Amino acid sequence: LTVLVTGANGFIASHVVERLLRAGHSVTGTVRDPADKSKTAHLRAMEGAGERLTLVAADLTDPDPFSAHMDVNVVMHMASPYAVDVDDPQRDLVDPAVKGTRSALEAAAKSPRVRRVVLTSSMAAISDEPDGRVLTEGDWNGASSLTRNPYYYSKTLAERAAWAFLEQKTPGFDLSVINPFLVVGPSHTKAINASNQILVDILNGVYPAVMDLDWGFVDVRDVADAHVAAMDPAVPQGRYIAASGNMTMAEVVALMRAEGYSHAKLPRLSLANSIGSAVMKLASYTQPKGVGSYLRTHLGRHPRFDNTRARDVLGIDFRPPTESVRDTLADLTRWGHVP
Ligand code: NDP
Repeated sequence: LTVLVTGANGFIASHVVERLLRAGHSVTGTVRDPADKSKTAHLRAMEGAGERLTLVAADLTDPDPFSAHMDVNVVMHMASPYAVDVDDPQRDLVDPAVKGTRSALEAAAKSPRVRRVVLTSSMAAISDEPDGRVLTEGDWNGASSLTRNPYYYSKTLAERAAWAFLEQKTPGFDLSVINPFLVVGPSHTKAINASNQILVDILNGVYPAVMDLDWGFVDVRDVADAHVAAMDPAVPQGRYIAASGNMTMAEVVALMRAEGYSHAKLPRLSLANSIGSAVMKLASYTQPKGVGSYLRTHLGRHPRFDNTRARDVLGIDFRPPTESVRDTLADLTRWGHVP
């Protein structure tokens, strides 16, 4: 097959491109600047890239970034800004996420060859505040806004725009959507994406204490496998939660120590209890807006989810989060990010 991957240089997308090339597919990857070696050298060095990888320029905010590159069977729309804190959430998160998704689908609909679009959405489009219920593909985040978890808002609006497009335009393709939780794992480049950054921040003492936070993790290699599995036309369209299991911040810090990352910056003070959470919620108002709203919606809460569909239909055997965190730590060390 020939596959268009948007944002091909990204953390998750690089693993997807690697798998597609290895399986013998041809890939057109969009990046902001194909001449920027710091973002593209690793892709060009991949097995099969010389013969079957083409990199083209596209920015999500361009009026029509993708139409010229739609002579493909499958579109994987993965590019979207991922940041917790930005200056202008509408301009920096929502516009590129929503416009980029619409542009990708409009361009795909004009191409007679495209039969399947795989969209990288997020658990952010499912919920932005764990409330004890088991989250499934039937749940939608209806709470985020430009001021409350704006990244979550951008992902929710982008996925909603995709389903609305399908309903209104009945294009010639099916849509499968991958909704990953917090993605960690080895990176193809030295760049640290926003989710692996959390582990770097813990190691570097950015967190003042062990907080009552509980993350749903998923390994980047499993997320990449889910994308590749979802492009099979025999796989039913719809959403797929890509999430393995939870680890609390206390468990992550304990694992770091057990793995020998025992330097002084690791948080020692534990605020992992209800009084600690209440104190941290008050303190969250002193944080940058994005971080503050994240803390207020997540402290003391424990996400629960059902990943049956991804396991049964996509055949993903999710790696346990301890293995993913361990492999991420080794990879961060390899890239020189860990003191
Ligand atoms: P990265 O930051 O590594 O990848 C984001 C990609 O989007 C990069 O290629 C980036 O290009 C591109 N991009 C951002 N803004 C624009 C723009 N205006 N024009 C063109 N390209 C743009 O993050 P991830 O790999 O983690 O994220 C990939 C996808 O997965 C995103 O859709 C994200 O929302 C989603 N996701 C990620 C999760 C996670 O925990 N990591 C969880 C759930 C979903 P550049 O490098 O040039 O900035």
